[in-house]
Amino acid sequence: MAPELSQEFDHPTFRLAVAQFDEAAHLMHLDPNLWERLKAPHRSLCVSVPIRLDNGDIKVYRGYRVQHDMSRGPTKGGIRYHPEVCLGEVAALAMWMTWKTALAGVPYGGAKGGVTVNPAMLSPAELERLTRRYIAEISPILGPDKDIPAPDIGTTPQVMAWVMDTYSQQVGYSVPGIVTGKPLAIGGSLGREEATGRGVADITLETLRQDNRSITDATVVIQGFGNVGSHTARLLHQRGARIVAVSDQQGGLYNPEGLDIPAIFAHCTQEKTPVPSLTGFGDRIFNEDLLTLPCQVLIPAAVSEQITEKNAPALSCQYLIEAANGPTTLSADAILQDRGILTVPDILANAGGVIVSYFEWVQDAQRFSWKESDIHARLHEIMTSAFQRMLARSKEKRVSMRMAALMTGIEEVAQAHQCRGLYP
Ligand code: NAD
Repeated sequence: MAPELSQEFDHPTFRLAVAQFDEAAHLMHLDPNLWERLKAPHRSLCVSVPIRLDNGDIKVYRGYRVQHDMSRGPTKGGIRYHPEVCLGEVAALAMWMTWKTALAGVPYGGAKGGVTVNPAMLSPAELERLTRRYIAEISPILGPDKDIPAPDIGTTPQVMAWVMDTYSQQVGYSVPGIVTGKPLAIGGSLGREEATGRGVADITLETLRQDNRSITDATVVIQGFGNVGSHTARLLHQRGARIVAVSDQQGGLYNPEGLDIPAIFAHCTQEKTPVPSLTGFGDRIFNEDLLTLPCQVLIPAAVSEQITEKNAPALSCQYLIEAANGPTTLSADAILQDRGILTVPDILANAGGVIVSYFEWVQDAQRFSWKESDIHARLHEIMTSAFQRMLARSKEKRVSMRMAALMTGIEEVAQAHQCRGLYP
């Protein structure tokens, strides 16, 4: 029987992560003692983050860092700045990082961090003070061999640069390996900024290929046009896909003939124009309607729990590639499986970010930079071979690709725990 859920983390996203874990643990007959150990995070820290606003007032934000499992190496995971961040959501994201890093074969455990804030409401100076104080508060549990943050929703390479500088100021020397996703000038890696989107694009091509379909015949819908969504759109467009709809938090644009992605990319990423306020590219569309548009490939690349039992029966795609973390609820998963929609799960589809973060950390340790073509080639190799292994396992065991991926990740972690034993 599945062990109890830890109440302090109770939140819909944590319940989703745990329900997925329970299902995989049950299928693989996981040792009940380990099942219980892995069901709650190893360590979690909640901090107050007081900052002085530009008008002189002091405002206190809530910050979190959760380290789910560290049996395979230092923990690794992004920092999210979003108004709905809470301990339970961060814990769920940390758990998914554990399985993702194990599945990708990178020597890390899973972590995640976040601050409950809307970064768009802060000035650049306030954002810098918030980042520096948050990092100072969680720094006792950070370190290049302890826990290494990276970007996630609402955080950028500039935020990562402040993370690197704050930690380095505290220890008294420069520590590039404390964070990944930072600018090139301070030890960032070529190819990191687009890595998650590049991995999603690789997986999309591989998914179509195994069904003998060509990318040039494919229609694609993408929800979320931030770091992950915009690079996914750009790279799939480059390879010949017809991207018929994209969106951000404020809504989207739809053009069945295909959107002019290079122009939209330039407006949204350089001029920071919201997607629905662009004119002349297509019709405006609400995010809810975008998800049910007819297409071959649907790519959610925004927030969690977007595909639910309410809209799953109306999805009109053949493939769902989860670029976001946790975009599909458990009941929606079952509906999509019944409907024959192939879902490539988040821990596989969006692993490109943590894989190239690992390359960045290795380059920082080596004090040596790799060529961009080597980074793309190594990323492609890891992503496509993981996809093939998961597809083969799902067919052999007659389980979904999500279960195949989770079982593979959990097995790796279980082996590490078995070798290390229980201290003391
Ligand atoms: P981002 O902040 O750069 O972009 C997020 C995008 O989603 C923005 O376009 C935003 O407007 C949109 N959005 C936010 N709320 C929305 C809503 N309710 N409906 C529709 N759109 C909404 O973040 P990102 O780094 O691109 O992350 C996107 C997803 O990918 C997240 O789930 C994140 O955890 C996951 N992810 C990111 C990375 C990475 O390297 N950045 C790696 C793996 C997974």
